[in-house]
Amino acid sequence: MKNGKYGVFSMKSIKSRLIAMYLGLVMIVMIVCGSFILISLQDIEIRRAEEQMRLYAEKIRDQVALTYEESGFQEGLLQFSQNSSNTSTIQGNIINTDGQTIASTVNGRGSFEQYKNSAVISALGGTPYFSEKSRDPESGTIYIEYAEPVLVSGTVKYVIFARMDASNIYSGIDQTRRTLVLSVAIAFLLTSVMGYIFANTITGPILTLSAKAKELAQGKLDQTVKVYSKDEIGQLSESFNYMAMELSRTLGEMSKEKNKLEIILHNMTDGVLSFDKSGQIVHCNSAVLELLGIDEFKDDFNGFINRYGITSGVYIDMMNTDFTKKINFWAGKKYINASFSPYLSEKNIFAGVVVVLQDNTEMKRLDDMRKEFVANVSHELRTPLTTVKSYAETLLDGAIDDKETAMEFLGIINNEADRMSFLVRDLLQLSRFDNNQIELTYSRINVDSFIAENVKASRILAENKKQELIFKPFNRDVFIMADRGRITQVINNIVTNAIKYSPEGSTIKVWPEEDSKYVRICVEDNGIGISKDDLPRIFERFYRVDKARSRAMGGTGLGLAIAKEIMDRHGGKITVESEMLQGTKMTMWFPKNMKQEN
Ligand code: ADP
Repeated sequence: MKNGKYGVFSMKSIKSRLIAMYLGLVMIVMIVCGSFILISLQDIEIRRAEEQMRLYAEKIRDQVALTYEESGFQEGLLQFSQNSSNTSTIQGNIINTDGQTIASTVNGRGSFEQYKNSAVISALGGTPYFSEKSRDPESGTIYIEYAEPVLVSGTVKYVIFARMDASNIYSGIDQTRRTLVLSVAIAFLLTSVMGYIFANTITGPILTLSAKAKELAQGKLDQTVKVYSKDEIGQLSESFNYMAMELSRTLGEMSKEKNKLEIILHNMTDGVLSFDKSGQIVHCNSAVLELLGIDEFKDDFNGFINRYGITSGVYIDMMNTDFTKKINFWAGKKYINASFSPYLSEKNIFAGVVVVLQDNTEMKRLDDMRKEFVANVSHELRTPLTTVKSYAETLLDGAIDDKETAMEFLGIINNEADRMSFLVRDLLQLSRFDNNQIELTYSRINVDSFIAENVKASRILAENKKQELIFKPFNRDVFIMADRGRITQVINNIVTNAIKYSPEGSTIKVWPEEDSKYVRICVEDNGIGISKDDLPRIFERFYRVDKARSRAMGGTGLGLAIAKEIMDRHGGKITVESEMLQGTKMTMWFPKNMKQEN
C-alpha cells in the first residue's frame, strides 16, 4: 500500500483493482497461450521423433530382419546404421522372442544390452509400442522408444527396438519453457507499468472529481474540473461542472434572499425571536438584545419565559391553538409586549413559536400617567370638598349661631371653594390645550415693559415675605411675538413660585437675555431649590416636591404644567436649573423667528 495523491492506495481502490485485473488478464492469456505453445511444441517434437523412429524401425525390419539370416543381423544392422543418416541419434536393436538382443547398433558383438521394458513386451505381444519418455534406470538418460514386431508367417519372430536420446528434445522444450517464463515475467513488469498508467488515466480524473466534490461540500463553490475527453469520464466532468455552477447560482440566490431577510430582521425596531418545536432558539435579531438589555440570547423557550416571569403554559397553548397570545413583562426598565404566535411546517404541523417583542414603556408610562392623573384630580377635589362638608356640617349643627365662628368657617369654606374653582379652571385650561382648543392671540410685546408690569404686580407678594425683587431690564427696545395673556400667566407663575419657595429676606432676580436665536426671560431665586430626582418631573401635572407645603401655599401643582404647554405652543420652551438649598433659575425661551401674524 502507498499513499496516492488524493487518498490511500489500497486494494479497495478502483486503481488497484484495475491494475490487478489488467495484470490478471495478461497473465492468464500469457500462461494459457504459453502452455498451449509449449504443449504443442512438445507434441510436434514427439510426433516427429515417433515418425522418425517408426520409419527407422520399418527400415531395419525391411532392410535387415526380413533380408538377412538371423546370424547376419548384426552385420546387416551395422551396415544399415552406417548408411542411415540417423546413426548418431537413434540406436536400433533386434530382439528375439526370448527377449534376447541379438543385434544392435550399439556396443560390440556378444555384449548386447538386454531390454525388458513395456515397449518390448508389447511388441512381443504383436502390438507396436511407442513410449515418449522412458528413463534409463542406470544412466538416468531420458529416451524415446519404439518397438515394432516383425511377423513371419503371421507370428512374431523378432522385435525391432529403437530408442533415441530425448535429452535434446526435452532440454529444448525446457529452454522454451524458461524463455516463456521470462517473457511472462517481463510482460508482468511491463503490464504493471502499463496498467498503472492506464488505471491512472481512468482514476486520475475520478480522484480529481472526488477531491473537487469534497471542496464543493465544504462550501468552496467555485469548483470546475478540466474536461479532457468526450468519454464517460468527460461527460461526468461536464455534469460536475454544470452541477457546481447550478449549485453556486442557487445558493447565491438563496443567500441573497436570506441576506435580504436578515437585513430586514436586523433593522426592525421590533425584536423577533423564533424557537423550534423542541424549544431551541432558531433566530434572534439585534433588536431583541437591545430591548432585553443583553449581549447574547442564550435561553431556550422555557428559559426565556421563566427568566421574565411569563406565565408557563404558553408553549402548550401555542401547540394547540393558532392564536397569537400577547403578554407584557418588565425587562429591566423596559416594559415589553411579547406576541407569541405558533408557526406551522409545510405539512401543517406545529413547528415552533415566533415571538415579536415591542417596547411598550412609553405607552405604559402614559397609561400610568393617565391613571395617576385621574387619581390626583379625584384626590385634589376631595380634600377641599371634605373640608367644605365638615365646616358646613358644623355650622348646621349650631355653630352658625356664633357669628364670629360662623364667619371664620364661612371664610374657610369660601377659600376651599376658591381652591376648587382654581383647580377646575387649571384643569379646564390643560384639557383645552390637550384638545387643541386654545387659539393664541399674538401681539408684538416689548420685553422690558412686559417684565416690568409683571414684577410690579408681584412686588406686593415679595414685600410680604421681605424679599427683594430685582429687575434688570435690557434698557432698549426688544420685542417678542406672543399671546400677552398666556405669557403673563407663565411669568406670573414662575415669579410667584420663586417667592413661594424662597425664605424670607431672600433675593429674586428677573432679567431678559438675547442671542441670535432666542429672547429669554430669566427668573432666579436663592430659595430651597429642587433635588436632581425631582427636577425632570416638576413640569408633570400635579407633581409637587412637597405636596403639603405646596397645598398650604395654595398651589394646585398644575402651574408649571400649564406654563410648559403655553411655551410649547409659542414654539419656545421653559427650562429649569436648580441646586438643592442654593436656588432655582427658570428660563422662558422665545424663538426670534416666531410666527408674526395675528
Ligand atoms: P405649585 O402650584 O405646587 O406651585 P407648580 O406646577 O407651579 O405647582 O410647581 C410644581 C412644583 O415645583 C412645586 O410644587 C415646587 O415643589 C416646585 N417648584 C417650582 N418652582 C420652584 C422654585 N422656584 N423653587 C423650588 N421649587 C419650585
